[in-house]
Amino acid sequence: MHGRGHHYVPWKDISGWKCIRCGQCCREYIVSLSYYEALILALKHNAPIIKMKNKYYLMPRADGSCPFLTKIGSVAYCRIYYERPTVCKLYPFYVSNRPVYGKASRAEIIKDGETYYVYVDKVCRGVNRSKNIEEVVRYYIELWKRYTKTT
Ligand code: SF4
Ligand code: SF4
Repeated sequence: MHGRGHHYVPWKDISGWKCIRCGQCCREYIVSLSYYEALILALKHNAPIIKMKNKYYLMPRADGSCPFLTKIGSVAYCRIYYERPTVCKLYPFYVSNRPVYGKASRAEIIKDGETYYVYVDKVCRGVNRSKNIEEVVRYYIELWKRYTKTT
């Protein structure tokens, strides 16, 4: 996710996370894409793509929301859920091999002998909705490893 108002904090500073399907992230951030994601979304779903400084993004609607966001009642749905871009799959977690947002000891986690640094965007409304943080962080490290190898 790329855009306004992220507030990344180390994972040890929150108790847990559970997506409440509010759709806020799909309304407020511009979605960055790899070249292959841009190509597939344009060809398969007729997605509006913007290219800026050699990077690709989903062009938001006039109100700033993602063109694939839809709502049924108060519940947000992604119309391309199973093919959504990597940044959407990883949000609100930010995994790295380096402590990019500081507070290294609070962000550090060792998994299978490797050290990772994980941050969570506190702006997400699902933050602190559960008490499962370490389990979720370990799961997101696996997702990050999988998707950063394939996109
Ligand atoms: S802002 Fe957080 S809780 Fe709301 S839809 Fe996005 S990930 Fe889920
Ligand atoms: S592609 Fe789907 S998950 Fe990603 S911002 Fe758009 S509606 Fe949300």
